[in-house]
Amino acid sequence: MTLTDLDRHHVWHPFTQAQTAPDAIPIASAKGIRLYAEDGREFLDLISSWWVNTHGHAHPTIAAAIAKQAQTLEQVIFAGFTHQPAAQLAYELVQRLPKGLTRVFFSDDGSTAVEVALKMALQYWHNQGETQRTRFLAFEGGYHGDTVGAMSAGKGCGFFDTYGSLLFEVGLLPFPETWDGDTEVEAKEQASLARLDEYLADHGNTLAAVIMEPLIQGSSGMRMCRPEFLQALATRLRAAGILLIFDEVMTGFGRTGAMFASLKAQVTPDIICLSKGLTAGFLPLSVTVASEAIYAAFLGDTFDKAFVHGHSFTANPLGCAAALASLQVFEDEQTLAKLPQIEAWHRQGLATLAAHPLVQRVRVMGTIAAFDVIATDAGYTSQIGAQLKAFFHERGLLLRPLGNVVYLLPPYCIAESELRHAYKVIFLSLMTLSP
Ligand code: PMP
Repeated sequence: MTLTDLDRHHVWHPFTQAQTAPDAIPIASAKGIRLYAEDGREFLDLISSWWVNTHGHAHPTIAAAIAKQAQTLEQVIFAGFTHQPAAQLAYELVQRLPKGLTRVFFSDDGSTAVEVALKMALQYWHNQGETQRTRFLAFEGGYHGDTVGAMSAGKGCGFFDTYGSLLFEVGLLPFPETWDGDTEVEAKEQASLARLDEYLADHGNTLAAVIMEPLIQGSSGMRMCRPEFLQALATRLRAAGILLIFDEVMTGFGRTGAMFASLKAQVTPDIICLSKGLTAGFLPLSVTVASEAIYAAFLGDTFDKAFVHGHSFTANPLGCAAALASLQVFEDEQTLAKLPQIEAWHRQGLATLAAHPLVQRVRVMGTIAAFDVIATDAGYTSQIGAQLKAFFHERGLLLRPLGNVVYLLPPYCIAESELRHAYKVIFLSLMTLSP
């Protein structure tokens, strides 16, 4: 049986159950920004394989670090045991994160990092006797993963209505989305802050935390907001004594042009969630990093205040070795210094698209560029999105529009000519749509 036969008969992929969906593309190998299919096709991976491959595929430094670690210590229980890759990684992350985030809790993926953050925030209050603080606020359009807590916090993205009976209640604030040339941004920010003020007046003493994707909401369409908004939000929450959780699962590790969106926005949250780019796409791993004050609330004479969360693979040494090697690549290749270049290339590419009558809301931040295609059917089931995706695949580009939003989020090793080629194909794709 061929790979496609095996896959067609026995594998259940995410989001592809439609009878009309084409067979999964059989990928044999990958290098840099290229994916190589079994049937000889090649794809430029312009979405970093779901936003994880920061340095491109199969980077030799990271591959070697994993191979070396696999021969020394591949896995050990992390309750009551420790190892060099985990402790060193915790140290290295703390050096790079906003000052004050000092305690690193390991888990396995972005959804779980969020789950951990929500449980931490709830128990932080519980351990101090404030058991009434059980509510969470999130943002319309926010996505935080697809475990139950993460779906609850992300119900504002609208994907999870089927699972409503599993979810807990979360309040939603409007996300003050902005784009190039937007003149209404301040009014949108004021409206969102006003909604927060109302919520604080009504429920402030029962609120545990606010969770958000800082600067860019990824899954709901690369929707961007200004640092000024995050600063105003953080100031209000600090004054009210409410915790702020930043979900930097997508924005972390250089995506916004800075190592973390929180650094770019100059806002320090109480808890931060990281995954995706943490291991540069090599292995599943995540961390939830908290302030010392939060950690202190979990210490007691006995285990009565302990945090009840631990997975079989917590702080897996292979994942930690990959993450350490990725941080090394950031240093060796001066990666952060290269990112403004990618932003400039995006701006040039988008300038050629912006004049097209179907293109709206052009936006760029760091290595992420996006625009909306005017469509009558926005959202995940957009026909235009499906049509464009097929067009891109036929021409060797891995691009997956989010509904009617086309976005690019390439690995940092992309060359100018490769990105220019991508914009040329996107331009051609727009020509196939009638205004
Ligand atoms: N938070 C954000 C902001 C994300 O973009 C994602 C993944 N798209 C997640 C959480 C969930 O991460 P994972 O898929 O690794 O569980």
